[in-house]
Amino acid sequence: MKNIYLDNNATTCVAPEVIKEMMPYFEELWGNPSSMHFFGGQVQQYIELARAQVAELIGAADPSEIVFTSCGTESNNMAIYGVAEALGSGYKIITTRVEHPAILATCRHFKEHGHEVVEIGVDGNGRINLEELKKELSSGPAIVSTMWANNETGVIFPIDEICEIVKNAGGIFHTDAVQAVGKLSINVSETPVDMLSLSGHKIHAPKGIGAIYIRKGTKLKTFMTGGHQERGRRAGTENVPYIVGLGKACNMAKEFIASGQETTVAKLRDKLEQGILANCLDTTVNGDIAHRLPNTTNISFQYIEGESILYHLSDIGVAASSGSACTSGSLEPSHVIRAMGVPFTSAHGSTRFSLSRYTTEKEIDYVIENMPTIANRLREMSPFV
Ligand code: PLP
Repeated sequence: MKNIYLDNNATTCVAPEVIKEMMPYFEELWGNPSSMHFFGGQVQQYIELARAQVAELIGAADPSEIVFTSCGTESNNMAIYGVAEALGSGYKIITTRVEHPAILATCRHFKEHGHEVVEIGVDGNGRINLEELKKELSSGPAIVSTMWANNETGVIFPIDEICEIVKNAGGIFHTDAVQAVGKLSINVSETPVDMLSLSGHKIHAPKGIGAIYIRKGTKLKTFMTGGHQERGRRAGTENVPYIVGLGKACNMAKEFIASGQETTVAKLRDKLEQGILANCLDTTVNGDIAHRLPNTTNISFQYIEGESILYHLSDIGVAASSGSACTSGSLEPSHVIRAMGVPFTSAHGSTRFSLSRYTTEKEIDYVIENMPTIANRLREMSPFV
């Protein structure tokens, strides 16, 4: 069997249709969109088409509310820097303990520069503590940033409810939707977030392209200064082929969701999860099972280290990911798993499987068939049993 890729929350393959769409912008339409001559002028319209495709996927009323960036990390930085700089240190910054480092590190930067920064906790299932959020919002104006869905567990935060709480308190709300876009139906016309980050390489576009939705009227200090590209909100010559690729990927994601294909992905994920839980001893699922991305499962194999599981899976051609981070030589469980308070013996064996629209049942069957042998072998070697 060919290699099996179950690490789609890390990155996805570029869809062949996306590559095809991008090629003319390397070969013929390579002009600078800011140029007055026909080489440049003719490509601007394709940037605008892609902007409309991104806007359509997330339900933005006006494509001009979309700004292209280089990745999800840049979008997250732009949101926090932009608003924190525009509003000043009178605004508290509220986020959660389970955010991606692109948010956590940026918020911590502002903490070092005089802002009050609060990280809200989650419960054992990775659910946000809304009471804590309300309490923090009651003491003055705030910028709030919470993810739409978690990259490690797939847990989906109740964004409508969070948005309502923040807006009722007069706050500014940004959501890191890098893992949610393309997997869930999102409509910013109904969910009144002020800003939303997304990334191309999580939705079958290439790495190196992202976007941020900025609702009209949101006060934002320009983060990247220089030329007047992107209506002065993000300087730098536009990455036209990648922008076009992102547009096509959004277009495909829209069709994928509209045709209910994420249900097929969820069925395969459930089959994998149930197959592992039934056939491997001492396994549990991390996170809120009822509110998860359709493509993600995070399973703890008690008494086993996640890295060993990954190594053995890789040996049989299966790519997955662990919830551990290698910090100064010791295998520490990730900050997400620690924030959930998962017990030590489980936390170390947490393994993430993330599927895509290209995952097949045959691949899932192969993993279910081979997983018990790997788990049993490693458990026999475990010093904790
Ligand atoms: N936010 C979340 C939730 C992510 O999962 C990731 C990437 O894994 C990012 C932000 C960063 O996105 P990028 O890799 O495009 O910088």
